[in-house]
Amino acid sequence: MHRVGLIAFLALLTCGNLAPAVDVVEVDFRNEDGEAQTIQGRLLVEAADGGVLIETRDGRFWSITPDQLVKRKPTDASFQRLTSEQLGQRLLPEAKTRLPDQQFEVVKTKHYVICTSAGRKYAEWCGELLERLFRAFLLHWKQKKVELSEPAHPLPIVILANRQQFAQYATADEGPSAAESQGYYSIKSNRVVLFDLTATSQSAPAKSTAEINRKIAASPFNVATVVHEATHQIAFNSGMHTRMADNPLWVTEGMAMYFETPDLRSRSGWRTIGKPNRVRSNQLKDAIRKKRRSSELFTSILSEDKPFLDAKNAADSYAEAWALTYFVIKTRREQYSKYIKRLQEKKRLFWDKPEDRLREFEECFEAQAADIEKEYLRYMRRFTR
Ligand SMILES: [Zn+2]
Repeated sequence: MHRVGLIAFLALLTCGNLAPAVDVVEVDFRNEDGEAQTIQGRLLVEAADGGVLIETRDGRFWSITPDQLVKRKPTDASFQRLTSEQLGQRLLPEAKTRLPDQQFEVVKTKHYVICTSAGRKYAEWCGELLERLFRAFLLHWKQKKVELSEPAHPLPIVILANRQQFAQYATADEGPSAAESQGYYSIKSNRVVLFDLTATSQSAPAKSTAEINRKIAASPFNVATVVHEATHQIAFNSGMHTRMADNPLWVTEGMAMYFETPDLRSRSGWRTIGKPNRVRSNQLKDAIRKKRRSSELFTSILSEDKPFLDAKNAADSYAEAWALTYFVIKTRREQYSKYIKRLQEKKRLFWDKPEDRLREFEECFEAQAADIEKEYLRYMRRFTR
C-alpha cells in the first residue's frame, strides 16, 4: 500500500444496532481561486498534516489541503443527506451558474433527481432507463453473492440539451478535457453529467416518447453512454467501489462496459446484462490483428491506470478491460467476487503501488498474470478470430 501523506482515519462510533450518528463539522477555507468559503459536512478523512476530506449533504467531496484550511469547528448537527426535493433545489442554481441563459427543470424518479435543459420527455425517458439499470445492477450482484447496499440517498443527474451546452457545463465543472467526452461521472461531485446525444444545435426537445424512440434507434451509443456513466454512479454509491480509494480502472471501466451493451430489439434500447460488447470486442480483434496487443500492455493494465489515460493506448486498454471483465465474470466468477471484496476494503486516499496491485490480483485469482492471460486469450478467440 502506497501512502500519500500521513493519513489517520476517523473511526465511526457505533452503538448497538443503531445507525451511527455522524457529526457535522464546519470548515472555513480558501478555495482554488483564493476566495473564502465555508462548508458544513461530515469528516471522511483527516490527514496527519491537517488536510481533510469532507462530504457535504449533496454528496460532494471536498479535499482541503492544510494551506487552504482556515478554521474547522464541530457543530451539534448530525449528518444527513439531502432529500430528493432538497437535492433538486441544489442542482438548479448549480446548473444556472454554469449556463445562465438556459432554462432548467427537475424531474424526480424513485432513486434519481434529474436536473435538465433537454426537456421533460427526454429526462423521463432517461429516468426510466436509469431505474431499470438501478434494479438490474443490484439484483445482478446479489445473485453473484457480492454484498452491496441500495443507496439510501437520491442520485444526482444533469442532462443538457445538446453538445454545446454540455461542453460549456463540463468545462466549468471538470475542465476542458471533460468537454470532449460523451458524458461523465464525477467521483468528486457524485453527479452524472450527460447530454441528449440525439439532438443537434437547432433541434427542439422531443415532445413525445415515440419521437424519442425514433431518435434512440438511430443513435444506439446514446443508450450505451447513459448506462455506462450511470453504472459508475451506482457502483460508487452501493459499496461496490469506494470513492477516492484505489480502484483499478480496468475494474471500474470493465464493469461499466459489461453493463453498457445496448439491446436495440428492446423498446428502451437496453434490457440485458453481460451480452458481448461488439464495439469493444472488434477493437480487441483489431489490436490483435494489427499486432498492437502485447502481454506488456496486459500486465500494465492490471498494475496501473496509465494505459487508459494516454491517447495511444486508451481505446485498446478499454477493449482489453471489457474483455478481461467479461472473461472473469463468465469463467472465474468466485475469484472475481473475491477480488472485488478485496478492493472494497481499500481506504480512501491511499493509492497502491503497481506491484502491490498486481500481487493482489494474482492472489485473488490464484494464478500468475501470464497464465491468466493465456487462458483469457484462448477464451476470447470466439470474438477475435
Ligand atoms: Zn467509464
